[in-house]
Amino acid sequence: MAVERTLSIIKPDATARNLTGKINAYLEDADLRFVAQKRVRLTREQAETFYGVHKERSFFNELVEYMTSGPVVVQVLEGENAVAKNREVMGATNPANADEGTIRKDFALNVQENSVHGSDSAENAAIEIAYFFAGTEIVG
Ligand code: ADP
Repeated sequence: MAVERTLSIIKPDATARNLTGKINAYLEDADLRFVAQKRVRLTREQAETFYGVHKERSFFNELVEYMTSGPVVVQVLEGENAVAKNREVMGATNPANADEGTIRKDFALNVQENSVHGSDSAENAAIEIAYFFAGTEIVG
């Protein structure tokens, strides 16, 4: 199985509740390694661009408000099958549907304030990583 990289974001509801370390432990326990990590406050423009695929959805404005409401921690995770593995440990978008032992089951508040983002394909991971990190900031 190939070693991959994926983009993860610890979202404002989780940073507000001081859950960065606890969430990182779930990721490390899934054999995902942090090869880059930084805490930032997204601008409205950054959030709109990042979630551009959702711009026609009814929840788009609310999503941008939420993602800019507090600090986030953006991370590059590396590991075998990292994209799928991260999606598995994150759990379903709506925590009501998330499996036991997943980050969203254990920490998410609702379908919007769901604590983490993870790239949904290797192709999107490459785009999302390049959006937040210079190559020199990623140390494998
Ligand atoms: P995921 O983050 O699991 O890949 P999506 O790409 O479908 O899910 O949605 C992106 C983000 O938009 C979600 O993580 C969540 O924060 C928000 N979101 C998704 N669906 C809804 C909804 N029905 N109502 C409010 N916010 C939503």
